[in-house]
Amino acid sequence: MSSVKMVNAPDGLEGAGFFATSLDKVVGLARSHSLWPLPFATSCCGIEFMATMGSHYDISRFGSERPSFSPRQADLLMVMGTIAKKMAPVVKQVYLQMAEPRWVIAVGACASSGGIFDTYSVLQGIDRVIPVDVYVPGCPPRPEQIIEGLMQIQELARNESLRRRNSEQYQQLLESYQIQ
Ligand code: SF4
Repeated sequence: MSSVKMVNAPDGLEGAGFFATSLDKVVGLARSHSLWPLPFATSCCGIEFMATMGSHYDISRFGSERPSFSPRQADLLMVMGTIAKKMAPVVKQVYLQMAEPRWVIAVGACASSGGIFDTYSVLQGIDRVIPVDVYVPGCPPRPEQIIEGLMQIQELARNESLRRRNSEQYQQLLESYQIQ
């Protein structure tokens, strides 16, 4: 069993029974393999997410098998489905209730851009109200694509500086969405 390697050790110095590295690499490694998603599913793309959760695709392989319906215990907002303009303040409120660090995936064409619903009532992409880290294309995207989106977020989380959330650029990004 000692030959089983669950995840790769972060960059640094490695030897038998030990590795030395920097704090932000260890924190990044831990965060990237324990992302807790909040599934904000309003329509068909949500069904694809259900398949992604199931045993065949098994999102728990990535440490994300624990969906949270409390924003305060989630760090990955996954918006899946058509978001009516009436729902936009709700999406934003959920985002605001999540603690930093938090990441956002827009799953599917509707969440990314309004999709085929170019109408007066549909939000033309959730990035009109909250910052988005990864867009997953498709109508609907297959579970493999949702997993690819999750892996992109893992990459971001793994390599993000611990200071990024305090940086001026990040504050400016939030201010551009009228978020303090
Ligand atoms: S992108 Fe397509 S599959 Fe997904 S919610 Fe919109 S219409 Fe449904």
